Formats: sequence, structure tokens, C-alpha cells
Amino acid sequence: MPTNIDIAIIGAGPTGLCFAKALADTGLKITVIERQTEAALAEPAFDGREIALTHHSAQLMRQLGLWERIDPQAISALRDARVFNGSSLLSLNIGPENIRARNTRSENTASENTASKNTALADTQHSELGYLLANHLIRKAAYAAVKSSPAITLRTEAQVLNIQTDANQAQITLADGEIINAKLVIAADSRFSETRRAMGIAADMHDFGKTMMVCVMDHPISHEHTAWEWFDYGQTLALLPMNGLRSSVVITLPPDEMNQLMTLSEEDFNHEVSARFKQRLGVMRLSSTRHTYPLVTVYAKRLIGQRFALIGDAAVGMHPVTAHGFNFGLTGLASLSAEIKAAAAAGHDIGGASLLLRYEKTHRRNTRPLFLATHAIAKIYASDSPPAKFLRASAIRIGNRIAPFKRAVAGFLADAH
Ligand SMILES: Cc1cc2nc3c(=O)[nH]c(=O)nc-3n(C[C@H](O)[C@H](O)[C@H](O)COP(=O)(O)OP(=O)(O)OC[C@H]3O[C@@H](n4cnc5c(N)ncnc54)[C@H](O)[C@@H]3O)c2cc1C
Repeated sequence: MPTNIDIAIIGAGPTGLCFAKALADTGLKITVIERQTEAALAEPAFDGREIALTHHSAQLMRQLGLWERIDPQAISALRDARVFNGSSLLSLNIGPENIRARNTRSENTASENTASKNTALADTQHSELGYLLANHLIRKAAYAAVKSSPAITLRTEAQVLNIQTDANQAQITLADGEIINAKLVIAADSRFSETRRAMGIAADMHDFGKTMMVCVMDHPISHEHTAWEWFDYGQTLALLPMNGLRSSVVITLPPDEMNQLMTLSEEDFNHEVSARFKQRLGVMRLSSTRHTYPLVTVYAKRLIGQRFALIGDAAVGMHPVTAHGFNFGLTGLASLSAEIKAAAAAGHDIGGASLLLRYEKTHRRNTRPLFLATHAIAKIYASDSPPAKFLRASAIRIGNRIAPFKRAVAGFLADAH
């Protein structure tokens, strides 16, 4: 006997779980299909990622009931950001005042949507750019929020064999033989989404040929709650300030150099990383496991299909340099869930083509310009050719004096929609 539900979500990552939770009180029947075990979702392992969140994202997480499930001690303030280039100590400095200036300007342009305006107003009251929070804690809070909602069923250790959609319904066949009929299928199964591929949706995928390593390190000199993005020659370094004398360290290198770094003993690793950061924070000491990720960005050619939509990284897999991935995931799920809620309340089709088209248009408009701009910045700063070096240095030098440039970069760092 097939199971009949309203919405099937494939992927119980932070985006899939938050999307389910956003619709938990609508009376809709929702099933989340995940290949990991329930235990792995309930107690997610530390994965090295510290996620920089905008005020807007924090607000959405409060509305979803996630924020209060997280220990306030685990949340650190991101007050300022500094962008360095090469060996120069000159940096582009970005603080909350740059966002305020940007938002004041955007309030004056009547074209922004209501959500943007609300965020602009919220941001003017803050003295920091945003917050920093470990990815596994977001996942844990999202799982707990979903488990408290009777309308949501979790199918873990599940493998999707087949998906078919037509004008009336979608049908998912699982490897254990279960058939699920839904009005709408949502893919939230990562930037390498198998569901996107199964639905025949192509994606622009760019492999930077680099590997990112993330870990937590202690250091004797204070970071003063400032994030660093350091586009050095031959490597990119980032530092995200955690509470105390501790930071999340992100190092981007070609894979062979990364392999060498990963196999260093802890003592040699500490020595090597302190030297790479030119001892600017003193002698750094590893205080977590080390994790690597391939640097691949993705933008799906279409964000929707018949009774089907992509959310999270499956839709837009950002370059982490501007810390937008999950921020965009939250913005997208908020706009799609708002459309679905309105349709359900009015008794309309929750998987209808016009609803999905509106989501696609909104999410593309909110993400595409920053995706392209981030991509361009990442390419210029990854290149050590003489023209690129000139451009890189000029951008930092001139950027500090030209307010619109700083506002634009502040926008990349802290205004994810
Ligand atoms: C180093 C690094 C730093 C980052 N820093 C930031 C930051 O500062 N700010 C920010 O906003 N973002 C950041 N991001 C991005 C952020 O981590 C992602 O945007 C976010 O995790 C995406 O969530 P998701 O739920 O869409 O996908 P994922 O987290 O990839 O989850 C996908 C889920 O789907 C499941 N799944 C996959 N395939 C299937 C299948 N076929 N069937 C069933 N289940 C499946 C997986 O097991 C997983 O649970 C960073 C990313 C990296 C790598």
C-alpha cells in the first residue's frame, strides 16, 4: 500500500529539517527521507564548520524554534571583518556601520521586498555583523525541533530508488519497496544532489581544484571578535572568532599541499599553521579534529520541476568565502514555505506550477547576483598572476576609502538575501 502524504523532503541536513519545521503547523503531512541513521541526526558529529549567520538568519532560526535550543555560550558574536591581501598588513575593514549604511540606502529604494525591509530595520539595531555557530549544533537543534512536531515523519537509513512526477502527484520508490505519493517533492540533499540529477536538472558546477581544511585552534592573542579573510599568495586563510581565545581556522590549498598539512603531527601542525598566520595571533594550538572539503560551487540551471523544488545547497552551493551557504538556505526555505502556507490556507494546490515559479524567481533574484560576484572575487583572489595581484591590492587600498565598495563587501559578508 502506498503512503499518501503532502510533502516529501529528501535530505535531513539543516535546510531539509528547517524546511519541514517551517511547515509543521500547517496541517500538512510531511515526510523527511534521509540516508543517515537516526542516531547520526540526533547527535551529529562535529564537522569542523563554524557557520557565520546574519541577523536575518538568526531571526528565522528563532521563528523555527531552533535558537532557544542552542546553548548561548556556544554562540559567538562576529563584530567586524578584515580582508587582507598578500603579505600586506593593510586590510579592508568592515563593521556593522557598513551594513547600516547599506540598509539605509536600500530602505530608500522602494523596490526591496518586505522581508528585506524588516531585516534592514533589524540590522540597524545591532552592534555586530552577525553570529558564529557550529554546524553540528545547528543540525542537532533542527533535529530536536522536527522531533517535537507530530506532523513530521523521519525515514532514516532510506535510499530513494526512483522518483516520478506528473501533473497530479509525485511518486517516490524507496529501496525497501515502500512507495510514497506526495503532492510535492523537495530536494535538500546537498550540492551533489542525486535527486536533482534524477529529475534531469542540470547545474553549473565549478571545481576550484582546491581543498578547504577547517578546525578549531586556541591562541594567546585576542581576535577581538573580528573575522579575517586573508588572500595570501598560494593560500587563502580565514579566521572566525569564537568565544574566548579560540578561533575556527579555515585554510584553502591545492590538494597535494593539503594532504601534507593533514598528515602532520599535532605539534608540527601547530607550528605550521602559526607560521602561515605569521604569528599574528601568537602560537596557535589545535583543539579539535581537522576536516577537509572540496572547493566546488554549484548553481542549478532550474530550481523547480513538475511538483518538485530544490532548496539549500542542492539549489545554490556557494563558495564559503562569503559565508552565505546556509544563510541562503534559510532565505530560500522561508520564501518557499511562505508560498506553501498561503496556498494551503486558501485550499489551493501546494505543488502548483505558478507557486513554484514564484519561488524560483524570488530565490534566483536573492542569490544569483551574490553567487556571481562571490565567484568573481574568489577567482581574482585565487590568482597570483601579475594583473590579478595588481587588482587584488588596488581593491583593498581603494576599497577602504570608497564607501560603496565597502558596503558591497559588507553585503557579501553579512546580508544574505
Ligand atoms: C568549510 C565550510 C564552511 C562553511 N561556512 C559557512 C558559513 O560561514 N555560513 C553559511 O551560511 N554557510 C557556510 N557553509 C555552507 C553550509 O555548511 C551549507 O550551506 C549547509 O550545510 C547546506 O545545508 P543543506 O541541508 O542544504 O545540505 P547538507 O548539509 O549537505 O545536507 C544534505 C543532507 O542530505 C542527505 N542526503 C544526501 N543525499 C541523499 C540521498 N540521496 N538520499 C537521502 N539523503 C541524502 C545527507 O546525508 C545530508 O544529511 C560552509 C560550508 C563549508 C564546507
